[in-house]
Amino acid sequence: MMTLRIGQGFDIHRLEAGDGVTLGGLWIACPYRLVAHSDGDVVLHAVMDAMLGALALGDIGELFPDTDARYQGADSAQLTRIVRDRCRHLGYVVGNLDLTILCEQPKISPHRATMREVIAQVLDIPVDRISVKATTCEQLGSIGRGEGLAVQAIVLMLAHA
Ligand code: MG
Repeated sequence: MMTLRIGQGFDIHRLEAGDGVTLGGLWIACPYRLVAHSDGDVVLHAVMDAMLGALALGDIGELFPDTDARYQGADSAQLTRIVRDRCRHLGYVVGNLDLTILCEQPKISPHRATMREVIAQVLDIPVDRISVKATTCEQLGSIGRGEGLAVQAIVLMLAHA
């Protein structure tokens, strides 16, 4: 078995007028909502895809199809625990995770510390292994116009003892 495996994930969801978004398992009150079949947690979707990618296990669309009524409004934190346990079962844990959130709003920096704590709890690893970064797109393109929010995730999976 390889001791290290790297994976990357990307996700984007549309933003519309609303009362808040769930990002990284954290509810952030703001005048927007993420349009999605699940809770629209684009951060955890990218995280799950990175973990699944590292172990060549497909993607979340395959694992949790949006045609399946069971995943209507699904709690992405719960889905992430399922992915975490599947990886554990195969002998891997998240070594470290680095995220970049691309959006014009909401402002991520006031929520960064709490978001790291929540993701660490969901993945059941120390918080110093989780990095959350954010950038705007300088008003360029669809994200720059505030039409959506995208996340890039990269993860290193470690074989556990
Ligand atoms: Mg998604």
